[in-house]
Amino acid sequence: MVDKRRVLAEFRHYYEPTLDSQLPITLSNGFVVVAINGACPLCKREIAQYKIKGNVTLPLPNVLSFDANAVCDECKCIFPLYGRIRAKNKTAQIERLENGRWVFYSHNALVDKFKLSLNWLTRFFKD
Ligand SMILES: [Zn+2]
Repeated sequence: MVDKRRVLAEFRHYYEPTLDSQLPITLSNGFVVVAINGACPLCKREIAQYKIKGNVTLPLPNVLSFDANAVCDECKCIFPLYGRIRAKNKTAQIERLENGRWVFYSHNALVDKFKLSLNWLTRFFKD
């Protein structure tokens, strides 16, 4: 049985550039997004940047949107990584869809000023 979503994800992963290659991007408030990270929903390992491929767009000067697929070699799985990063004050907030609604997460600038960790995205795919 062919899983169409997986075939499409693998097709996209083969052809699309790494998110890494499309960064850094500076939001209108000066906040620099240098990395978009993801962790495997199965083994929780952080995925190497070159294994996260898709599109980064800037639909508004203060909003970065990303739509990617990430591969975990350990688990032989591929999973979507999708969301937005919005400039807020001097930092940024991360937004993702959860049960049909946008959910917002503050980025803790004190912990890591320039690196956005999106490990929370994987919770969505465990359920
Ligand atoms: Zn894994």
